[in-house]
Amino acid sequence: MEKITRNTTILCVDDEPGVLEAYRRILQQDKGEVSDIKSRLSARRRRSSGEREAEADSSVLLPEENSFSVFTASSGEEAVDIVRRELDFGRQIAVGFFDMMMPGGIDGQETIARIRELDNQILCAVVTAYTDRSTTQIGKVFDRQEDWLYFNKPFTIGELSQSALHLVSAWNRRRHEEALVSQLEIMQESLLSILDFVHDLNKIPPLLLEHLLEGILSHFLKLLGASDGFVRLNDAFEGVTMIGAGQFQGMSVNSLTAMDSQWGLVEDAVRARRPIVIEHMAAIPLQIGTLVQGVLFVQQDRDFLQDSMLLEVFACQAVNMIQNSRTYQELHSTNLQLSTTLDELHQTAGQLSKSEELRDRYEKLTYYDGLTGLPNRRYLEVFFKQLLFRCLRLKNSLACIMIDIDYFKMINDSHGHTIGDRVLQEMGVLLSHKNRGHEFVSRYGGEEFILLLENISQDNVLKVGERIRSAIEGYIFNAEGRAVQVTISLGGTILVPTAATTITEIIEKADFALYEAKNRGRNCCIIAAED
Ligand code: GH3
Ligand code: MG
Ligand code: MG
Repeated sequence: MEKITRNTTILCVDDEPGVLEAYRRILQQDKGEVSDIKSRLSARRRRSSGEREAEADSSVLLPEENSFSVFTASSGEEAVDIVRRELDFGRQIAVGFFDMMMPGGIDGQETIARIRELDNQILCAVVTAYTDRSTTQIGKVFDRQEDWLYFNKPFTIGELSQSALHLVSAWNRRRHEEALVSQLEIMQESLLSILDFVHDLNKIPPLLLEHLLEGILSHFLKLLGASDGFVRLNDAFEGVTMIGAGQFQGMSVNSLTAMDSQWGLVEDAVRARRPIVIEHMAAIPLQIGTLVQGVLFVQQDRDFLQDSMLLEVFACQAVNMIQNSRTYQELHSTNLQLSTTLDELHQTAGQLSKSEELRDRYEKLTYYDGLTGLPNRRYLEVFFKQLLFRCLRLKNSLACIMIDIDYFKMINDSHGHTIGDRVLQEMGVLLSHKNRGHEFVSRYGGEEFILLLENISQDNVLKVGERIRSAIEGYIFNAEGRAVQVTISLGGTILVPTAATTITEIIEKADFALYEAKNRGRNCCIIAAED
């Protein structure tokens, strides 16, 4: 419980100036005057009733740390004004001591009633020499009977200080309980937002780790109401190391090293293996057991108010999803290996109709082309959908280039189908190398390939196309020891997608440009603009 301090305020109301002075001195601990008050109070007591024993034991005085701020009022009206003024300043009075009979103004009961109307948390002591009211009558002002107590005047120092202590303790305890309840409410709210978040997170498909990380990051930013952040994974996750949003969008791990404060916080969180929040930045390690797999970082304009429990629960969820995605990727590459094995079996066993069936069934499971190892058409469709959605969301441009080998039939005809296959395989390697740093390359079918690029200008699409075209033109394929040269035609389109844009429409436009390139004599690249 909070300690009672000087800041706890007591209001004393009595029409006798001497009693008010006694209140002040006892409750505020004016040491030099205490013995004086004691003698005066005892004198009064003997005078007024003669019944009660004078109290001279100084141990009943308030311990020094338990003295209070005291307001005194010589009438009920003045007391009401003091309470109102304090409330206007945002301050509460904890306890009031009230005389009952105050001739010339409102009496103690009326004073209490008016004060409790302003602030019904104030606890009261009725202190009176004589009154025409019963305690039942006085008690009617209070909803809860434990909100008040009663003792006679003249009071002893012990009576006053003990009742002050008890009432102030009760008042502080109630404020403390209220604070606990509101803390519980905040925690409940946090838990509900975690539940919502987990629910949303489970909707992200695990197909591509990069997209999963984007999803995790954007959900996290949404949860915290922040706009800038990044997620970075350790080398154990091949391919993707960092995804950024807001001010960190498109940043690499290297470009961030220079930004001291953010990076320092990230390193601290990884070292400490727990979320670290400093003002408006938060870094949360993504870890399984004690092994840190990566880190999430977010930044916002104002300071973070969320507690670290929320951040830790979030990080746990994110790690689980990343692990799932990893398992999925591993299964996926096992599938790929199986595919190659099946292909080989298929070739040795000849045209067995059963293996044909097996292969068909298998092809439905896989996303990679058995010959070139490139993503196949099915994978292209999945990826294309996600890319289209992302470009639409980020208002990025999207380019699609269709590549077709010129007179490929003649290669097959003059060198044989196996040589043709080797050319296609090497073409796959060349395209994925020449395309390094760009978005996505796939075998669309036969001797056709599709290249997707994101956030690129029309000029640069043409440059990429030209670079690939001239690289193939100058390349000598080594197919089973035989030197073969081919050229390619490229047709592409670039656009900023709208909600109405479809994949079919984009591919058709690229196909049309390719048709044009073939018409213009092949070995050239045509990029059609959006209009
Ligand atoms: P163009 O310049 O108009 O594109 O002429 P082209 O001969 O390249 O075009 P066409 O579409 O007439 O022929 C494509 C050829 O590609 C026919 C087909 O036998 C061959 N092809 C398709 N897939 C494969 C494959 O996996 N391996 C091999 N070796 N050849 C393939
Ligand atoms: Mg073709
Ligand atoms: Mg062709």
